[in-house]
Amino acid sequence: MQLTKLEIKGFKSFGDRMVINFDKGITGVVGPNGCGKSNVVDSIRWVLGEQKSRMLRSDKMENIIFNGTKKRKQSNLAEVSLTFNNTKNLLPTEYSNVTITRRYYRTGESEYLLNGVTCRLKDITNLFMDTGISSNSYAIIELKMVDDILTDKDNSRRGLFEEAAGISKFKIRKKETLKKLEDTDTDLERVEDLLFEIE
Ligand code: ATP
Repeated sequence: MQLTKLEIKGFKSFGDRMVINFDKGITGVVGPNGCGKSNVVDSIRWVLGEQKSRMLRSDKMENIIFNGTKKRKQSNLAEVSLTFNNTKNLLPTEYSNVTITRRYYRTGESEYLLNGVTCRLKDITNLFMDTGISSNSYAIIELKMVDDILTDKDNSRRGLFEEAAGISKFKIRKKETLKKLEDTDTDLERVEDLLFEIE
């Protein structure tokens, strides 16, 4: 699986549509201070579902929308799309190219799309689970994460290995199943109470 394209429009400093094509090998983004290099990384983290504006170096989500300049009007929509080549079928879908899109409107509404079709964030996280690609995975390593891994803060080293070993999806499923069991137990107790009352 290879990341092939990033499209940004109306996100942070990118008022115009901006496309980065990732060829085989290493792609470097260079530019003067403040030109938007880190915003490119933020956009990837965001399209993968990041919910905390703090992680995107913003105080609130609305601030990720292009604010305009002296000469340009602000945008009302931020949109980022990330495309992967899936010819090796590492993602559990029949599509050989997978594009995920996130949109956020100034009105506060947001949308996620999978190959142009509206979906839930859960569909996207499920699709990428255990591939090492998620808003908080080791696919994007910032300086603070290196510190956390070295000091093993909040068991972060174990989390990293679990994601790489492909077991995090089972841990999440186990948690969901235990929650369902708990809910079912509560329902059963309620049914027993009702039966007791009827009898
Ligand atoms: P450095 O090399 O100093 O780390 P950088 O190239 O990584 O810089 P970024 O931090 O990505 O730069 O970008 C900062 C720029 O993004 C600032 O000029 C800031 O004004 C601009 N910016 C951030 N949010 C918005 C927004 N919502 N609308 C317009 N511009 C924005």
